[in-house]
Amino acid sequence: MSLFQCEVCGCCENTALSCQGFKEITECFDWSYAPEREGLKLCSACGPVERSNGHGPTEYGKWHGVFRRVFLPKNQFHTNRVGNLEHTETGREDFSSFAIEVTP
Ligand SMILES: [Zn+2]
Repeated sequence: MSLFQCEVCGCCENTALSCQGFKEITECFDWSYAPEREGLKLCSACGPVERSNGHGPTEYGKWHGVFRRVFLPKNQFHTNRVGNLEHTETGREDFSSFAIEVTP
């Protein structure tokens, strides 16, 4: 379980709440809603809304609401060795200080 930055919207997400970021098991989902997102690391809100082969809707496509959604400058963060989100340039882990926008 670790934090990562969504490659589409830039928010901070937890792998446990977003199917590991949808990156490992892309075949389970129907990507026709946004084919360019397949293979990217996605938050629950940017994730696929339908399973593949007509297996019905997923619980994704909306923010999970377990914690607040913090949007960060895109491509500036990575997951470090302890599973926290780290600002690549400064090495800082207090990602909230870099927030562009925060929604519930
Ligand atoms: Zn996202």
